[in-house]
Amino acid sequence: MASYRKPVCSFCGQTTTNIFSSETGTYICYDCIEEGHRQVQEALAKQVKKPVDKLNLDLATLPRPTDIKAFLDQYVIGQDEAKRYLSVAVYNHYKRLLQPKDKDGVEIEKSNIIMVGSTGTGKTLMARTIAKMLSVPFTIVDATVLTEAGYVGEDVESTLVRLLEEANYDVEKTQKGIVFIDEIDKIARKSDNPSITRDVSGEGVQQGLLKLLEGSVVNVPPKGGRKHPEQEFVKIDTSQILFICGGAFDGIERKIAQRLNTQVVGFDAVQKAQRIDKNNLLRYIAPQDLKSFGLIPEIIGRLPILTYLEPLDRAALRRILVEPKNAITKQYQKLMAMDGVQLRFEDEALDYIVDKAIEFKLGARGLRSLTETVMMDLMYSLPAEAKDKKSTDVLITRELAERQIAKADSLRLQNAV
Ligand code: ADP
Repeated sequence: MASYRKPVCSFCGQTTTNIFSSETGTYICYDCIEEGHRQVQEALAKQVKKPVDKLNLDLATLPRPTDIKAFLDQYVIGQDEAKRYLSVAVYNHYKRLLQPKDKDGVEIEKSNIIMVGSTGTGKTLMARTIAKMLSVPFTIVDATVLTEAGYVGEDVESTLVRLLEEANYDVEKTQKGIVFIDEIDKIARKSDNPSITRDVSGEGVQQGLLKLLEGSVVNVPPKGGRKHPEQEFVKIDTSQILFICGGAFDGIERKIAQRLNTQVVGFDAVQKAQRIDKNNLLRYIAPQDLKSFGLIPEIIGRLPILTYLEPLDRAALRRILVEPKNAITKQYQKLMAMDGVQLRFEDEALDYIVDKAIEFKLGARGLRSLTETVMMDLMYSLPAEAKDKKSTDVLITRELAERQIAKADSLRLQNAV
């Protein structure tokens, strides 16, 4: 007769028949199950409703505008003017939050910002980068999804839902945050005559946005959207929230040129006209150009700081490939290093990628897709080769870059036929 031995609990070591066994041969006794359950409950109870930490701003330790710009410099190439404006705006935002409640009657008011620059020049990058160092909640929203209440799309109030989420649903924190509104130009009035048709994404949205920009108490649906009609609204006061807007304002150069032309009259007109840098008209941008473009004057008045981003020239694109902390080439080097491959790029190969980005009018956004095209075949074959120690050192030459881009190009052409 086979002898029966009582199993032993793998956790406490006691020998008992009150026990569960797993397929792997581990045993757990009833006592240990109970103890485990108790500990889990205890841990869960501690997790529930951790107190939300308040903002701990201290003027003495806050980064100064020069520090903020130095931080931006690590990630964003060029755009000095916009960086300085943004750094000052963020610093002043902190100071406004910390302003002493004196009886002198002076109250520092907020100065929202608007940044104008062609697509792909770094507006969103700048916003994302600054978010990394902020001590206040920050969010980026896209103005293209905003429509007037009652239309398909998002209400203007939804802009604040994300900020509320970022602030862990702490209303006080939310009211001190920063919102970056991307593509603000998309809500410009399409026509100079406001009454031609109702424009869903035009003046009505601007009026809604105005409420937020100028500071008012707004009812925010915490779950966002209109899908949860039963939810209770949260009241958010926007008077301390800093708004940074960005937009490409395609074609605004024409408005600027028109204004400059009509302004440049009088006997020194010719001289003045010659001094205008026609390749970068954005640097002359003024509030009235935004109005000509279709923003309502009240919105413009609530965005008192107007700055611009430079177009990225060849030299800037070349720097973007290698210099930023998060540069594209560095990312591929890191990818390859994980396979034990040391990746290097020949200068001429990088020049070629930049030339192609310019030729295809892809700007900075194109640098990534072009580099990806150059790297694709290698990323496919190198990991296996590296595993067999067949290749551990790779140089991307201009010939390779030319070949890969030409190959991708001809494939695309074939597909297009
Ligand atoms: P937009 O001005 O349209 O918001 P983005 O900031 O989204 O442009 O830029 C697109 C991409 O191009 C960025 O993710 C970044 O990789 C690159 N880029 C654009 N401008 C710069 C810049 N000034 N410095 C470094 N990278 C840049």
